[in-house]
Amino acid sequence: MVYINGEFVPKSKAAISVFDHGLLYGDGVFEGIRAYNGYVFRLNEHLDRLYASAHSLMIKIPLSMEGMRRAVIDTLKENKMKDAYIRLVVTRGAGDLGVDPRKCSKPTVFIIVGSISVIPKEVAERGIRTIITWIRRDPVDGTSHEMKSLNYLNSILAKIEANNAGVDEAIILSTQGYLCEGTAENVFVVRGGEIWTPPAYTGALPGITQSTVFEIAKKIGLKIEERLITAHELFNADEVFFTGTGAEIVPVTEVNGRAIGTGKPGAITARISKEFQRFTSDPANGVPIA
Ligand code: PMP
Repeated sequence: MVYINGEFVPKSKAAISVFDHGLLYGDGVFEGIRAYNGYVFRLNEHLDRLYASAHSLMIKIPLSMEGMRRAVIDTLKENKMKDAYIRLVVTRGAGDLGVDPRKCSKPTVFIIVGSISVIPKEVAERGIRTIITWIRRDPVDGTSHEMKSLNYLNSILAKIEANNAGVDEAIILSTQGYLCEGTAENVFVVRGGEIWTPPAYTGALPGITQSTVFEIAKKIGLKIEERLITAHELFNADEVFFTGTGAEIVPVTEVNGRAIGTGKPGAITARISKEFQRFTSDPANGVPIA
């Protein structure tokens, strides 16, 4: 069952207007969230990010944050799901054929619960092959991924390039040429025992998994910082890994034909991945489906 504007409808009947500006213009915001064993991981952080994205885009979400929390939990309960991938979408709503958001009287809210396989498990275990692609992230004075909007065309163009090159994923640079992120993942570089990740001002999404990795690194005593990273630093890293709600923690073992470190998933990535599993199974890090 899919939640649409306060009602549950079967998947086959779940539909929105063709005049919805989410569809016509990518005018909307969303979150991808996971539930692990009866707890929605970092739900409050996801809702904070959703409402922040909507605030920048001046979309007035027709539910309070508490109401939205309830809607997510109720959708999981309605589907009797304890482990799930949750897609929460708020669009500008139906309007006319022009871009003017003032013509859209009411935002559309829908919640789909299901599963997702961003990178197949066996691929993630051996480490993934990537390319740095020609398409750049939108700048921070454009449709930057600091806002989690429905505008994913530059990720899709990057993914097409990865597909064409026969590799698993693409790495996207900022307009300045610094490392930014993957198509739907944040990126981390390990060098000399230190962990680096690009700041959101490169145009990357401030990831919930990314911030969890900061907590993990601090817990296990590893130095971690946000920092501008060049392609040269990336090629010469000891380890590289991606993070994301869908992808979780994924080692990157090749970038544009260059082996990263030994060319095999690294020890620090493995430690972080193991700790991440502990974090996702700790009820203290989630909201119960109750
Ligand atoms: N960057 C982009 C562009 C994404 O779509 C995602 C997935 N939401 C991420 C990074 C990872 O963010 P998170 O850990 O919050 O899922």
